[in-house]
Parts: sequence; C-alpha cells; structure tokens
Amino acid sequence: MSLHGRMVSDSLAIYVHIPFCTKHCAYCDFNTYVEKAQSRIVDDTVKAICEDIRQTAQSLSDAQRLRSIGSVFFGGGTPTFLSGEQITRILKTIGDNFVVQNDAEISSEANPTSSDSEKFAQMREAGFNRLSVGVQAFQDPILIAMDRFHTANEAERALQAARTAGFDNLNLDLMFGLPKQRLADWEESLQRALAIETEHLSLYALTLEAGTRFERLYAGGKLELPGEDAELEMYERAIEILTSAGYHHYEVSNFALEGCQCRHNRVYWENREYLGFGAGAVSYLDGRRWKRERLPAQYIRKVREGLDLSVESETLEPEGTLGETMMLGLRLREGISLSAVQTRFGIEALSYFAEPIADLERRGWLIHDADTLKLTHAGLLLANEAVSAFLAD
Ligand code: SF4
Repeated sequence: MSLHGRMVSDSLAIYVHIPFCTKHCAYCDFNTYVEKAQSRIVDDTVKAICEDIRQTAQSLSDAQRLRSIGSVFFGGGTPTFLSGEQITRILKTIGDNFVVQNDAEISSEANPTSSDSEKFAQMREAGFNRLSVGVQAFQDPILIAMDRFHTANEAERALQAARTAGFDNLNLDLMFGLPKQRLADWEESLQRALAIETEHLSLYALTLEAGTRFERLYAGGKLELPGEDAELEMYERAIEILTSAGYHHYEVSNFALEGCQCRHNRVYWENREYLGFGAGAVSYLDGRRWKRERLPAQYIRKVREGLDLSVESETLEPEGTLGETMMLGLRLREGISLSAVQTRFGIEALSYFAEPIADLERRGWLIHDADTLKLTHAGLLLANEAVSAFLAD
C-alpha cells in the first residue's frame, strides 16, 4: 500500500473525452468545439485517441497495465456526435490494450439530437451498457433559452431509442435554477423523468461559468434567474419527489434505483485512480494528477509526434490526498468510514481534522456517528462550502 492509499491490484477507471458538439449551449464551459460531424478533425481526433490509448498502455509498468478496468466513461462534449463506428473503434482499442472486467460499467453520454436507435444498437453491441442522456429540462422555452438544440419530445424519443436498443441502465441529466424556470416547471421535469423510469438521475444547479453567454448576459443585467431561495426550494422538492418514488439519494446531485449507482463516478468521489484519454482529459495515477493538451489540433499533433501530452501536472502530497478524499467522500450520503480512512492513510481523521469537524458540527452541517462522518440535511444544502473545510488553505 502506498501513502496515497492505493494498492496496485486495485481496479482502474478510464475516461475518454470527445471534444465536439453540434452547437454550443449558453451555460457550458467544457472543453468542446463546434464542428461538422464528417469533418477531418473529428476522425483525426478519433485516430489520435486510439493512438494515445496504445502509447499510454505501452508506457505503463506491467503492474499498472494489468490492473483491471472496472469502468469506462465516454464524456464530452458529445460522444454520440461521433458515428457508431468511430465510438466503437475507441472502445475496442481500450479492450485491446487493457484488461476490462467482464462486468465493467461502460457508459457514454448522449445528446438527444445525435442519438438514434441504430447508433445505440451499435454501441450496445460493442459493449456499452449504460447511457447518460443530457435532457436538462422538459419545457421547450427553457431549452431554447439555454441554447439547447433539441425539444423535450426529441429527448423522450432519444430515451425511448436507447431502451429499444437494449439499454437497461439509463441516466438522465436535469438542471435547476434556470432562466424562466418556475417551481412548477421543475416539478413537471421531474415527473416526466419519472414517467420514463430511468435507473439514475443527476440534478445540477446552474452555475454561471466564466466566458459563457449566460455569464455575459447576467453581467449585463439581461439574464433573470430564479434566485438562491428558489433554487434551494427546487433542490429540496426534488429530494422529496425522487426519494418518495423509490430513488436512493446517494450523492449530493445523484439519485439511483437499487443497484444502479454510477460505478464510474464513485471512483471520483472515493478519490481513486483513473486514466483519461482525449484532448483536455485528466488522469490520476501514483499520486500524480495531470491534464492532456486541451486543443484538439495540438493534441492530434503531439500524439502523432509521440510527444508528452501533459500540459498541467501536480504531485499530490499524502496530506492533500487525504483532504481531497474527505471532501469528495462527504458528497456521498453514506458519508465517510473513519476506519476505512485509517486503513487507507494510516491517519486518525477525527484528530487530524479535529478543528474543521468541530466547526462543521457546531454549525449543524456534519454528524459523527460511531465509524461514520456525514453531512446533515442542512450541510447537504451547502455541500460545496461544507466539504471545502477539509482542504488546506
Ligand atoms: S451539449 Fe453538453 S458539452 Fe456540448 S455545449 Fe451543450 S452542455 Fe456543453
């Protein structure tokens, strides 16, 4: 066991970043570029990702390369912007170069406009067993205000197409705190999601990211938002509606039916290791975290020339890793097991973090019960602020 609390025999996760979309949404600051589906740069990117996977696998020690892969996640951008052949070519390259577990969770994000049952069937056939569809809202005026490029009915048809193709593990993303969104709209979105009976739901509050159209509009006084109180009410209402419908609220923003938690995202919340491929993808291995070249053209060039792809790299001190593990782990509703932290880091978290723990308990945001530390309902509502107490200044 290393100081970072990992055994080389632990499984590893793989993330693949597809940096293209058909249009740019008004709130999005992800590393994604608007391109035409058949353009040269798109297929060059697919080839570069495959080559990146091969080169990375060859550069790893045997012990690392032979660690089994428990989950693969294609995100973006829009992975389904690629053709079925392109997306399955990348997955096959992963299978050819790593040991993917037979029961690995293999997910892809999908957008309603670039989804059809034929592409989904091809993906299912290739081994994808989970789809995450970005719906965001079920009201067309709200979707238009967000610069989304699909209607609510198209989103429902995409989810239906996924079912027809044999996907029995679906996630749906919804957002709240949106322009023009009233509590009644939000409740309607949740009810329409429930009617589709997706196994998993992710709910995100709108954040105004730097450089987005929404941020510029807001700064110019031209974007009206529901406000913090209304946003909080939407969040609490969602918890009520979804938990009454049988969903387990297992992470601040995530809800799942029994046995359907997202295995890949749990890797992040448990601060475990992963490899990322594609422009801008982040990897975390052996106490080092690094990011690949962000721009697709630079990424392609560097892969072709066999150059180092990392542009930002940090070596994490064990104390920093411990703080991050507390911060991320508290996002899980089950909380953190103190004995698991002790086993992983050889540190007694209650005394090491005595000050922030006492402060959060005093505010009523954190509860300590036997072996578990977890956020209270009040802490959950201010989760980002509450969990940041474990990070060094
Ligand atoms: S589809 Fe997703 S990744 Fe693409 S611009 Fe919209 S929010 Fe961003």
